[in-house]
Amino acid sequence: MAQRLARIHGTEEDKVNCPFYFKIGACRHGDRCSRTHHRPAFSPTILIKHIFRHPVREAELRALATGQDSKALEMQIDDQKSKEDFLQFFEDMYEELGKFGRIECLCVCDNLGDHMLGHLYCKFEDEEEAADALNIMNGRFYDGKKMEVEFSPVTDFREARCRDFDEETCARGGFCNFMHIKPVPMSLIRSLEEDVDYERRKEEEKRREREREERRKKRKHTHGHREHRSSRSSRREPKRSRRDRSYSSSRSRSRSRDRDHSSSRSGSPPPRNDEAEI
Ligand SMILES: [Zn+2]
Ligand SMILES: [Zn+2]
Repeated sequence: MAQRLARIHGTEEDKVNCPFYFKIGACRHGDRCSRTHHRPAFSPTILIKHIFRHPVREAELRALATGQDSKALEMQIDDQKSKEDFLQFFEDMYEELGKFGRIECLCVCDNLGDHMLGHLYCKFEDEEEAADALNIMNGRFYDGKKMEVEFSPVTDFREARCRDFDEETCARGGFCNFMHIKPVPMSLIRSLEEDVDYERRKEEEKRREREREERRKKRKHTHGHREHRSSRSSRREPKRSRRDRSYSSSRSRSRSRDRDHSSSRSGSPPPRNDEAEI
């Protein structure tokens, strides 16, 4: 019985759990779905909802605001510029999320259905890194959008992605319910990976140096009681959770990134404030 339940979990046969939510982390029925969307309490993957501004949807919104014909505006989309904008977005996100840990997979959906529009999935090597990213990114702003971040059940993107889209043969187009993952050149991913690894190592080194400095200061203060105090602090030290440390250091790093970012990208609107915008 248990074996059978494990086999059918999240498949079409499973009448309780929604296979779409289980596999793709998004279902077109949303909260009205007749099957359960089992939201994980922890996951190595986070989902930032609707964060990428899809050029087709942007054209639709412009048409609504100006009373122009949306199809005409869609025809005017400059493919080359859209691609460059997307890669810039991808770089920004990779660099920001890479501060929390090694990224195994960063996927941006090209889908147009409301339940998947502009979704970004980021899978880290471990759950703690994903939790750090969620805590810090949730509620902050990017490009004028408030980030809504949640843990996602998706850990195997081979199951979630539409293979037909990868072969440019998906007949459902933007309204397919499997992930249409926007392609990114492998060379860009490799170079981003190297950059963020380097930055993380530098930050880690700085953090260690600060801790060494703190310990030196403590030793000076406790001169005379050295035996007693140092044995206590050495017992306490390993108990500090990794999450506490990376939380505070990534927050300060985010702030320095804010400044770099706002000064390096002319043409983009100024961030609302340093705290909120990445
Ligand atoms: Zn569902
Ligand atoms: Zn498809």
